[in-house]
Amino acid sequence: MSSRNQQIFERARQLIPAGVNSPVRAFGSVGGTPPTIAKGAGARIWDVEGKEYIDYVGSWGPLILGHAHREVVQAVQAVAERGLSFGAPTEGEVEMAELLTSAVPSVEQVRLVSSGTEATMSAIRLARGFTGRSKIVKFEGCYHGHADALLVKAGSGALTFGQPSSAGVPPEVTAHTLVLDYNDSGMLEQTFSHNGSEIAAVIVEPIAGNMNLVKATPEFLQTMRTLCTRHGAVLIFDEVMTGFRVGLQGAQGLFGITPDMTTLGKVIGGGMPVGAFGGRRDIMQKIAPLGPVYQAGTLSGNPVAVAAGLATLKLVGAPGFFESLSETATQLVDGLSHIAQEANQDFSAQSVGGMFGMYFRAGVPQSFAQVMEGDGEKFNRFFHHMLDAGVTIAPSAFEAGFVSAAHGPDELERTFDAAREAFSRLQD
Ligand SMILES: *Cc1c(COP(=O)(O)O)cnc(C)c1O
Repeated sequence: MSSRNQQIFERARQLIPAGVNSPVRAFGSVGGTPPTIAKGAGARIWDVEGKEYIDYVGSWGPLILGHAHREVVQAVQAVAERGLSFGAPTEGEVEMAELLTSAVPSVEQVRLVSSGTEATMSAIRLARGFTGRSKIVKFEGCYHGHADALLVKAGSGALTFGQPSSAGVPPEVTAHTLVLDYNDSGMLEQTFSHNGSEIAAVIVEPIAGNMNLVKATPEFLQTMRTLCTRHGAVLIFDEVMTGFRVGLQGAQGLFGITPDMTTLGKVIGGGMPVGAFGGRRDIMQKIAPLGPVYQAGTLSGNPVAVAAGLATLKLVGAPGFFESLSETATQLVDGLSHIAQEANQDFSAQSVGGMFGMYFRAGVPQSFAQVMEGDGEKFNRFFHHMLDAGVTIAPSAFEAGFVSAAHGPDELERTFDAAREAFSRLQD
């Protein structure tokens, strides 16, 4: 007899490819059946069989206050009562723009969209329109949503143009995208010395959270800033994940580096679909209808979604919020590292603000290649031990994890108990 989770997932697979609306949810790399989630509250979620989990996925980053936070839900309810969408200016959008520009000083003007993908896609188009150039630079292992020009992997040999990483993307579309190694300043310098006058933009996750967690070195980002300024290229920090997640000013605040443009998403929607791109006023003024670069959206700045984001950001801006969140994440990674060490496992972990990475290798990675050296088979076994014990981490060794303000000593203790058992079972 199959379980209710299996029954629902079987129904899903009949009608939805792989049963999911975004690929990693299908448990493709870890195997098994993903639980179907019925509800969440604070740091916990429950599946349709009533099994409880401590959640370190947090909807992949947005839920910095935890699930179904009272004030966020109430804000959504109150706004929804007055209408779901108008396709006309609303005051919430202005409040959101005021909040984003005052928290992140490099963002002088901002436009709202409905996803991170839209934000990065629009930022790239705007950078190309602003500079009149075509080439863009991205880094292996960074993810910037699923727009065609950004679905690229490195070609063979250094400094070659990227190959599409997805079927359905014509090579012509990625022919202008250069893919370089993360944290390799020399490669970046070489690229600018060959192509500097043709590069419209460099886009980077200043703390990479889509190849597990990999921190940029300050020197790498500083080199990037200097080269973009010297060659007239637009520096885009993709802070869809790190914005309001690692600190109030995002990664740019932590590093003290000012990008020309910033993309945001995830936390700024508080669990609802909101993305944003913004930056220098002279660049933003090139967007339609002021300028020649087209961009639009039926549901952009949707009042209900914006209400969830505003309620979230107001609480995130409270004094001491990030100190406390960072402390929780630090305790988590320290605790896990300690337990792994006791079990003689090659394991390392680190955190920045409310995001963390854990690696089944000795020492934290600095590049995509080093992330790939982790023991994937061990990760998969660890993942399933934890899931059985009621702890959800991302079902892939190449994703960052997230704590919320609702995670506290009780959640950490239960996580450590589960991890002790999981690591000891990895020994046999
Ligand atoms: C999640 C993410 C995106 C894409 O955002 P979606 O809302 O999933 O389209 C882009 N860039 C980064 C850095 C992300 O983490």
